[in-house]
Amino acid sequence: MISKVIASQKISEVKELLNKYQKIVIVTHVSPDGDAIGSSLGLYHYLCELGHDVNVIVPNSFPEFLKWMPGSSEIFEYEKYPEFAQKLLNDAELIFCLDFNIPKRAYLMGPAIEAAKGKKVLVDHHPDPSDFCDVTISYPEISSTSELIFRLICRMGDFEVMSYDSATCIYTGMMTDTGAFTYNSNNAEIYYIIGELLKKGINKDQIYSNVYHNYSEDRYRLMGYTLQEKMKIYPEYHTSLIWLTNEEQMRYNVQKGDTEGFANLPLNIKDVFFSVFIREDNDFIKISFRSQGDFPSNKFAAQCYNGGGHLNASGGEFKGTMEEAIAIFEKGLVEFSDLLKNNKKKTK
Ligand code: 5GP
Ligand code: MN
Repeated sequence: MISKVIASQKISEVKELLNKYQKIVIVTHVSPDGDAIGSSLGLYHYLCELGHDVNVIVPNSFPEFLKWMPGSSEIFEYEKYPEFAQKLLNDAELIFCLDFNIPKRAYLMGPAIEAAKGKKVLVDHHPDPSDFCDVTISYPEISSTSELIFRLICRMGDFEVMSYDSATCIYTGMMTDTGAFTYNSNNAEIYYIIGELLKKGINKDQIYSNVYHNYSEDRYRLMGYTLQEKMKIYPEYHTSLIWLTNEEQMRYNVQKGDTEGFANLPLNIKDVFFSVFIREDNDFIKISFRSQGDFPSNKFAAQCYNGGGHLNASGGEFKGTMEEAIAIFEKGLVEFSDLLKNNKKKTK
């Protein structure tokens, strides 16, 4: 048996909504990752089994290495079909908001979600959710939203209903949000849940391979270039910076998701505990933060770029030039100097 985690009251509220409503839309955050897609499709397959009319809408495109996931071809992109997506949102009786804590994280789709008349349920694990849903299921101590979807389905007494496809998607989200169970994954119940998912017949080795052995040659060439030419170490701060311009990304024919995981790479270096990746996107600069130990990367993200996220993995956006973004980062190093200098990689 696993512990309950989700409050019984919330389970009853979701059950009541599902008994009452047929038309459901599931939405996620912008640039959806493995957990956003995994939790959405895990829930999608389950709700389809129950006989609901379900659609998944994401704000914009998601990486190729997630497109093998069962149901992924059914996902609508708001950016590509805004009017159709808007109609689905308007018509929805019930909207599940997965893996984000504030409407702003759904980018252009945020206002449409807020304006939609259907009842809303949030299932998420980011700290400090805003009060934009009728039911808020938020547990930052749980390492993935996909795990929360597993818990939600089980608590509704429907483990038996969960299909192989649903289990496969849930496992994918749990795996990607923990770096294949290498961080945020010391809770024994994660492994109990994996056992339960294996009983559904999932092929966890194949899932790993589908996600992590599925990159383009261009990505690997770009990774080599980035580590060789574009990585700066700040030894006194135990920090590293990597940065990529639009031009460099174009040179390596970067596709969506090709730089996924780059922010984690410098953490493999002894004595680097904080890694910052600044990347030019189309009309803004995207910054990713990763830390080890106690350093609050999310506080750094919030203070320097008005961003946020988890203690060890967070992000933010910046409107301006690459030089300005780097200058803000370097100023941040000084401001967080005490914490950074005293941080350590944990040894146990
Ligand atoms: P990534 O670096 O993979 O894009 O994001 C890592 C984590 O940081 C995400 O799971 C999310 O929690 C958070 N995050 C990323 N970008 C932003 C942002 O612009 N604002 C906020 N508040 N959080 C972000
Ligand atoms: Mn997540």
